[in-house]
Amino acid sequence: MRREELYIGGEWVRPHGEGEIQVINPTTEEIIGSVPVGNSDDINHAVSKARSAFESWSMSPIEDRIKILNDLSTALKELTEELAQTITAEVGTPIGYSRMAMVGTPRVVSRSYAKMLEGFEWEHEIRNSLIVKEPIGVCAFITPWNFPLHQIIGKVAPAIAAGCTMVLKPSKEAPLNAFLLADILHDIGLPPGVFNLVSGHGSEVGEILSSHPDIDMVSFTGSTSAGVRVSQAAASTVKRVTLELGGKSANVILDDADVIRAAKSAIGACYQNSGQTCSALTRLIIPKDHEDEIIEIVSSRVNGYTPGDPLNENTRCGPMVSEKQQQSVLSYITSGIDEGAKLIAGGEGMPEECDKGFFVRPTAFSNVTPEMKIWKEEIFGPVLVITTYDTEEEALELANDSIYGLSGGVWGTNERAIQFAKKMRTGQVSVNGGQFNVSAPFGGYKQSGNGRELGIDGLQEFLEIKAIQRPIE
Ligand code: NAD
Repeated sequence: MRREELYIGGEWVRPHGEGEIQVINPTTEEIIGSVPVGNSDDINHAVSKARSAFESWSMSPIEDRIKILNDLSTALKELTEELAQTITAEVGTPIGYSRMAMVGTPRVVSRSYAKMLEGFEWEHEIRNSLIVKEPIGVCAFITPWNFPLHQIIGKVAPAIAAGCTMVLKPSKEAPLNAFLLADILHDIGLPPGVFNLVSGHGSEVGEILSSHPDIDMVSFTGSTSAGVRVSQAAASTVKRVTLELGGKSANVILDDADVIRAAKSAIGACYQNSGQTCSALTRLIIPKDHEDEIIEIVSSRVNGYTPGDPLNENTRCGPMVSEKQQQSVLSYITSGIDEGAKLIAGGEGMPEECDKGFFVRPTAFSNVTPEMKIWKEEIFGPVLVITTYDTEEEALELANDSIYGLSGGVWGTNERAIQFAKKMRTGQVSVNGGQFNVSAPFGGYKQSGNGRELGIDGLQEFLEIKAIQRPIE
């Protein structure tokens, strides 16, 4: 899929920037498409179109926005196969998971905002004041590759609902789905200028968007280091910045848990999307008394988690998104071995089953200690690290021993597990395998970011609040 134009002001236009970004299929290592490299002229063009469109879109009838969001959801459903195949080709996600999570979740999220608008309270009174919620303005979205469409829709849908206009810069690893989304938004009749797409390099396009004086808000999802750069670039214009960043989330099995069920579930919780998930539960914290039993389950299950062609319906672990990502994950595996952690599954090198592609072996380490790099840093691949504890206090201390605080898990009898979850310094916690909820706020504590996406909290991020005072009679 070769795309040579940017979507600005409701039409496909030639870019001012030069060159192209090639998209590589991480399974076959073949080039499967390309997108243009936008520059500052393209951004200025897109921002001015978004600014012009803001006046009317911000005042648009709520019914129009509901219709767009419902039509978007319907179109995503109709195009599920094309979108899922595209994302599997770009990212390497197993195809079944692509259909369900990469396309299915955005479809449900779009619909959820349409539904939310039906009953949303835009105004309320406090004594002599009328409190009014208004769209914040022109937004910039900078998104990563790992759940590419989901992360885009997590911003685009609430922004449309709020009455904002926007400029999106997708990741360079997986930009093709964003071009398909632009086609969809065009076809369903989103007014020109409400949504604009400028592809390009993060260090250029991302930084220019973040510092742009005519952008009111930047919503960023990606690594903590790039999030810091975005905040710095945005600071001089005092725009609102929301950040969805990295994670190193803990999964704690309490000693009264259904240990077998918890241990089995720990694998999927870590390895979903081949371990390239910001909220993956990558640190497994287990009671010393159950160590042998849990490690036995984990190692035998990980060895059954065979990597392979993501287009094969039975594959559960695809490749890493790029050679760079593959090398990074492999270097963490080497570091775990060098630092003395015990390898209980997987290890260095390519999986035996694969002769090409950016694959790594699904891996698990036990005897991991808090000083080790594999305990502290986000690996972003299928690598589970395990440590033991003696007391519940120690388990909590280990769980909170991270610069991140995005997600978490806890297993135990219900009330005890909920109490434990409340003490975890993290934005969401799954208790006894509790499922992801698209209407619940998603976001991080500590260096996992600020702000929330999804649900009503995700909509509030795109709103300004005005107090209109009336004279007291
Ligand atoms: P990344 O930070 O390399 O890139 C993310 C986006 O930022 C890309 O579009 C990139 O081009 C852009 N970018 C890079 N440098 C920039 C700069 N200096 N200024 C502005 N933009 C810049 O991250 P990635 O490798 O694409 O994604 C993986 C990371 O994203 C992981 O750390 C993961 O945990 C995180 N992530 C977080 C969430 C969440 O919701 N918290 C969700 C998904 C991914």
